[in-house]
Amino acid sequence: MAEQLNEYQGKATMEKITSLAKRRGFVFQSSEIYGGQNGAWDYGPLGIELKNRIAGAWWKEMTQLNDDIVGLDAAILMHPRTWEASGHVENFTDPLVDCKKCKARFRADMIPEENLAAKKCPECGGELTDTRKFNLMFKTHIGPAEDTASIIYLRPETAQGIYVNYKNIIQSNRMKIPFGIAQIGKAFRNEIVTKNFIFRTCEFEQMEMQFFVKPGSDDEWFNEWKKRRWAYYDRLGVKMDHLRWHQHGPDELAHYAKDAYDIQYLFPMGWRELEGVHNRTNYDLTRHTQFSGKDMQYIDQDNNNERYIPYIIETSAGLTRNVLMILCDAYDEEQVADKGNDDDWRTVLRFHPSLAPVTVAVLPLMKKDGLAELAQDIRHELKEDFAVDYDQAGAIGRRYRRQDEAGTPFCVTIDYQSKEDGTVTLRFRDSMEQIRVPKSELTARLRQEIKEYKRIK
Ligand code: ATP
Repeated sequence: MAEQLNEYQGKATMEKITSLAKRRGFVFQSSEIYGGQNGAWDYGPLGIELKNRIAGAWWKEMTQLNDDIVGLDAAILMHPRTWEASGHVENFTDPLVDCKKCKARFRADMIPEENLAAKKCPECGGELTDTRKFNLMFKTHIGPAEDTASIIYLRPETAQGIYVNYKNIIQSNRMKIPFGIAQIGKAFRNEIVTKNFIFRTCEFEQMEMQFFVKPGSDDEWFNEWKKRRWAYYDRLGVKMDHLRWHQHGPDELAHYAKDAYDIQYLFPMGWRELEGVHNRTNYDLTRHTQFSGKDMQYIDQDNNNERYIPYIIETSAGLTRNVLMILCDAYDEEQVADKGNDDDWRTVLRFHPSLAPVTVAVLPLMKKDGLAELAQDIRHELKEDFAVDYDQAGAIGRRYRRQDEAGTPFCVTIDYQSKEDGTVTLRFRDSMEQIRVPKSELTARLRQEIKEYKRIK
């Protein structure tokens, strides 16, 4: 295991990431023309590609590479009894304090204890209110009548959609324990404090996998999933000295959980949760049995029809939080010349090629003399297999820099020699090395480079 860092040493800051994200079309403030909407963000052309690829990598890992995990896409609106059974109506609260003077709002567990004890605002020194519980679920009404009978919630986690479908999936897909159900989707939380860009938002996406196991085998499966989730980030090319485990102490552990570990990432603002691996016991299915009156027991037909309520090992990752992690992890600034010019430095996003929004950029050295036409032909050929960008505007060095900043791992440049001998220049983002490759071999070469990619910085 890589030695973890004590403090952040990377080149990213939240300001730089936020401004690059806007400049290059990764992430925009929601409803910006109206002054923005707190806690919500829009994913632009590069951002949606990155988010989709991160989701795709997780989906492949869970459903394609595991024979015993299937997918699900449950509705955001669920029967309100779901949230009584899950405990969210009663317990999904954060402790809230307000400053009477400057009106700032804080989560009581996120301000220094001495401020809380002295009821003193950490920002202006004014007096704080008593702590009160604030439910994080967004509540709305379904149908035309706005009465208590029509209350419905936006789901605060995707997991419950999995639990209420667990019997359907056993029956329809003949699943046998141990097995898992994976789901990616939106979740909503009325967070008291949303800051740090897309780290904590009111509307976000989760990637959750619930693994159903026989009671007694839960500790073993818990350790197994911890191992698998750690290995996953390593394969994605994430800097492993920026990841660590954090075990929930008795005061953090949810009342239903037997054990819980977070994978934390070292963001520019410090170590923060990226994903949780939880042993949720048989709590959720037991509660749904009680609240729905439906039998949630598993019948083990291979074992004399033994009946039990399975234990659940959950791996719960934020998709949008993963986007922020991957942006921070990839961000680098590098001195590439020493001429005293602005462009001595480049900003580069070192995405794993399988995650990069654009895999290959096709660049004719000149627009004239048939080079643009040749480049267009190559672009059309590569499009079948890769996400391709085409850029013919400006000096070639500038164009490389633009691609570096978008995290494009490969550039293909078409020059006069290409017309003569059918070779093109393949430029690598990380090393800036350039080699000549026959254009007929480009697709195979790119495939091989993606497969064998190793992060060098
Ligand atoms: P916290 O204590 O920080 O509020 P949590 O422990 O309640 O978070 P979980 O309920 O375990 O978080 O959610 C699982 C994952 O979903 C988190 O690891 C995180 O990646 C993501 N997540 C949770 N809340 C948010 C949010 N408001 N915005 C973005 N991602 C979130």
